[in-house]
Amino acid sequence: MSQVRFHTDLHMHSKYSRACSKNSDLEHLTLWARRKGVTVMGTGDFTHPAWFGRLREALVPAEPGLFRLRAELDEDIARELPPSVAAAPVRFMLSVEVSTVYRRAGRTRKIHHLVYLPDFDAAEAFNRRLAQVGDLSSDGRPILGLDSRDLLQITLNCGDGAYLVPAHVWTPWFGVFGSKSGFDTIEECYGELADHIFALETGLSSDPEMNWRVSGLDGYRMVSYSDAHSPPRIGRETTVFDVDLDYFAILRALRTGAGHEGTVEFFPEEGRYHLDGHRKCGIRMTPEETRRRDGICPVCGKPLTVGVLSRVEELADRKKGVRPDGAAGFRSLVPLPEIVGEVLGVGPTSKKVLAEVDELVAALGPELAILEDVPVDDIAIRSLPLAEAIRRLRRGEVVRDPGYDGEYGVIRLFEPGEAIPADTAVTPPLF
Ligand SMILES: [Zn+2]
Ligand SMILES: [Zn+2]
Ligand SMILES: [Zn+2]
Repeated sequence: MSQVRFHTDLHMHSKYSRACSKNSDLEHLTLWARRKGVTVMGTGDFTHPAWFGRLREALVPAEPGLFRLRAELDEDIARELPPSVAAAPVRFMLSVEVSTVYRRAGRTRKIHHLVYLPDFDAAEAFNRRLAQVGDLSSDGRPILGLDSRDLLQITLNCGDGAYLVPAHVWTPWFGVFGSKSGFDTIEECYGELADHIFALETGLSSDPEMNWRVSGLDGYRMVSYSDAHSPPRIGRETTVFDVDLDYFAILRALRTGAGHEGTVEFFPEEGRYHLDGHRKCGIRMTPEETRRRDGICPVCGKPLTVGVLSRVEELADRKKGVRPDGAAGFRSLVPLPEIVGEVLGVGPTSKKVLAEVDELVAALGPELAILEDVPVDDIAIRSLPLAEAIRRLRRGEVVRDPGYDGEYGVIRLFEPGEAIPADTAVTPPLF
């Protein structure tokens, strides 16, 4: 395959993970990847015996280290999609998220890690080893009483091409730098194997710019993925590469930075742990307010859930706005269904939004292209308010209502009370 810029989404879950959609199967994942414009996806959950069996049965080798859906399954999916996206290639790489829970230095640590392997034999060896530690069939994202360092060792033992990326590094619970159960440095967490870590997942509540404030992270590539628990959420965050379509080329780009083109991000305020607070008490605070109140909730008197922004500021040794040499850029976007929902005045998962996005994708191409590249004039032919919303999005002119303590934030394109330009689509549907 020749070099083209492509989106990857390498953190997601199957229907075998807790709280995940029954539709999170390979067929729906492939369908939604095409609709969104994602080329390479993680399989998620390959440690789960039933999912692993399904992966073996339904996937066939494509480029080195990558797999695609069997042709007969793929043809059925292509028939459900408009010609604008039906033929786009979709590849999978074997991926799993593992949760390690253990005590270190007098505290309970709960850390999530993403593990990637280039072939089924390596995955089988990994699964055999982990099955000695805990039950892999109870959750697609296994929870194991294993030190993070030991999980990394097991990963590296699987041979060339095996690698580990700490997941959503700043989230209070489960992030390697999390305020509740994490560490202050990668070295503290992974010990003498820390040199084998070269990429970090920013998570929904932080973006690369926030991470740039910590000089100790300069050597790491920032990646961003959806952590989708249902297929329509695929591609809400992605990492962009300009390399051959090849597992090892992607790995090389993550190691060296060459060909790692940066990430597509939520506005970090939209993430569920951006600010501090207590959801149940209705308290949301900025890092400054939290410090003033010594981290205590004024309603219940218990410690606040300290979010990502506070935690970044705690570890930061740089001012805002400094971009380290060689750091890849990023682009902040809002998922297309949320924008269409705002324009239409209905929820992003409503039938009306789904139908409208269907038409947009059929006329203009995948959702990510509509958000990033499609000329605003082409969008205006279909909907003037949508064109205005996307023009604002691309300039970063958004209204932010930050998330906290598990509550998603909201990003709007129009001010509350602002008259949204009347929808004057000038042509009938184009297909
Ligand atoms: Zn996680
Ligand atoms: Zn996850
Ligand atoms: Zn409270």
